[in-house]
Amino acid sequence: MRTPSLALCLLAGCAADRGNLAPTPKEAVALQALPTLVSPKVRLPPGAAPLSYRLALTVIPGDETFSGETLATVRIDRPLEVLWINATQLQLTAKTLVTEHGVRPAQAVVVDEHFAALVPRCPVSERTCLIAPGMQEVSVGFSGSLSKKDVDGLFQIKEGDGWYAYTSFEPIDARRAFPSFDEPQFKVPWTLSLTVKADHVALANTPQVSEEKLPDGKKRVSFATSQPLPSYLVAFAVGTFDLVDAGVHGQKKTPIRIVTPKGKTAEAKWAAESSGPILEQLEAYFGTPYPYEKLDQLSVPASMGAMENPGLVTYGHQLILSKPEVDTLWRQRGFASVCTHELAHQWFGDLVTMAFWDDLWLNEAFATWMTPRILETWQPTWAQDVAQVGRRHSALGSDALVSARQIRQPIVSNDDIANAFDGITYGKGASVIGMFENSVGREVFQQGVRAYLAKHAWKNATAADFLSAISDAAGKDVAPAFRTFLDQPGAPVVSFKLQCGKGTPTLALSQRRELPVGSKGDSAKTWSVPICVRWSAKGTQGRACTQLDAPTGTLELTGAKACPDWVLPNDRYDGYYRASLQGPLGLVDVYKKGGKALSIPERVGLLGDVSALVRSGDVDAAKMLELAELTAKETDRHLFGFALNFASVGGGDLLPEALRLKHEAFIRSLFSARMANMGWAPKPGEDDDLRLLRPQLLATLGWQGKDPAVLAKAIRDSPRRARRHLGARWRGR
Ligand SMILES: [Zn+2]
Repeated sequence: MRTPSLALCLLAGCAADRGNLAPTPKEAVALQALPTLVSPKVRLPPGAAPLSYRLALTVIPGDETFSGETLATVRIDRPLEVLWINATQLQLTAKTLVTEHGVRPAQAVVVDEHFAALVPRCPVSERTCLIAPGMQEVSVGFSGSLSKKDVDGLFQIKEGDGWYAYTSFEPIDARRAFPSFDEPQFKVPWTLSLTVKADHVALANTPQVSEEKLPDGKKRVSFATSQPLPSYLVAFAVGTFDLVDAGVHGQKKTPIRIVTPKGKTAEAKWAAESSGPILEQLEAYFGTPYPYEKLDQLSVPASMGAMENPGLVTYGHQLILSKPEVDTLWRQRGFASVCTHELAHQWFGDLVTMAFWDDLWLNEAFATWMTPRILETWQPTWAQDVAQVGRRHSALGSDALVSARQIRQPIVSNDDIANAFDGITYGKGASVIGMFENSVGREVFQQGVRAYLAKHAWKNATAADFLSAISDAAGKDVAPAFRTFLDQPGAPVVSFKLQCGKGTPTLALSQRRELPVGSKGDSAKTWSVPICVRWSAKGTQGRACTQLDAPTGTLELTGAKACPDWVLPNDRYDGYYRASLQGPLGLVDVYKKGGKALSIPERVGLLGDVSALVRSGDVDAAKMLELAELTAKETDRHLFGFALNFASVGGGDLLPEALRLKHEAFIRSLFSARMANMGWAPKPGEDDDLRLLRPQLLATLGWQGKDPAVLAKAIRDSPRRARRHLGARWRGR
């Protein structure tokens, strides 16, 4: 509570904040004491919300500091003692606030690393001093350090001869660049202007609308008012950028540009070619145009990830730029994946934003799930179905740890927000979405996605909103089953035991939590798992599905007229569970007997499950070497990749010396002939898979096999690099 006292603010120190109370210079007015300020925890308290911002900044790359003013229209819901805002490492000055007694000077008090209080200052004679409910224009001046070390908030990087300024605000770094209500629920229009050097280019989320020369040789660049955005999606950049015109694309003919530091336009070739088609594929899936007026794809000269700021997406330069003479297919496919992810966010995350960070999966899991859905249409040869099975495999690996988070994790500290950006949110989230997508049917799921986006466009949404949209489309409530994966950590191992006797063959099912061997975690957990299997009996194939809601269950293989030769326990391998086959028919047998009747992703899934079950102690490790020999004969790059993996037995370095030499010989026996056949350099017309496989094979033969031909070639072609990398491994052999 405010405690009026006789303490004086002798106005020498408060003159800037005095507004319409300004007395004559010799006059001194006794002000009420500042209230005791206890900062909120994590979130801003209720009672006030911004409705729009005008934001003006002066950003001169090369300078040590930046400065500006935030002018926010704020709705005050009830009388408030102070107005809390977010600010980190900023110097603040406030002007006025409207109190119950009228306009009064305001003081900005930085209370801790994340919060500042705007406090009205009333004379002692008024006894109370509460901010009045209603609309208020709240103005806060600020200045801060234009960091040369950090790559979050507002920072600068030198590239070539020049300094460039960039922003990176997700999740809670907008408060380092300007004071605001820095939470995703506050989604409002922003009108931005930047004062910059006359020869600099200034970019923001929206198109530039005007440019005004200033007397001091600078210029003020003003941008169009944005669609509603949370603070973490605001972005701008300043510097001597080059702009690569990538044409206009999509239903609204959106102009796309690749933005590079000066002199690097040649490195943007692939980004310029691929961004437009990706945007068009996304529009086709969502059934709505790209939501914003323009798309700038901005290269930041730092090794960092990418960020989906509407209209101004940022990428670490290693993702988006490459000199044409050294560019690789890996890099190009990598950019296409990241670009698809970031552009998917323009709908999932930007157009519809999670209400708070506990629903980060609504952004990240969806953008991750969406990526193969788009790329498989645009680039059908890129084996996105295999990539999805691989992603599921990695996520299950993380989820097996007892320390694994749940997808939807309550946020009780700022660390919880940072920790939410992990493989569980992205990989598990995407895999679980994929499982339920296939469970309700892809077209039904797409209808649900479109309805969700239409209903919550330009607003916030929660997990419940999304699950309700999918349930409406599916005509059944999917939420209870979905939530068993969303709200608890871990993943199930489902055991299948084939029972053949009189009548229809049946699978006895049971589930437990997957845990690594030796783990003390509790395995007695239950999920509602959509399960589909495929079987083959005497040349006839069939499919059977169920939802396993309890620790045990059964699944009849309806249509099987004899005991099946094999049962694939995860049809298409889109179910988010490990499969373990009990009894005489193990996973390796299914791999051998299923052969080409199993798709490549299914075989990749089976092999992934075998390697996981070796880790959990359910399958004998010797099976790895058997499978290495089996998969070394495969022509498909992904299956052959398992041979490289299985044969490596953890890199071989842990083996005793005598076994290590045998292991090296084993590697050479499996792979040297293949290498010789493939040749050192790509041949004209060679397919992409072979190009992608060659470096993997070379690495395994060189590192694990100490193949003399590979090592000699490495030393001959690049002696310094080879000696630096190989070092003692090469000497003495
Ligand atoms: Zn993302």
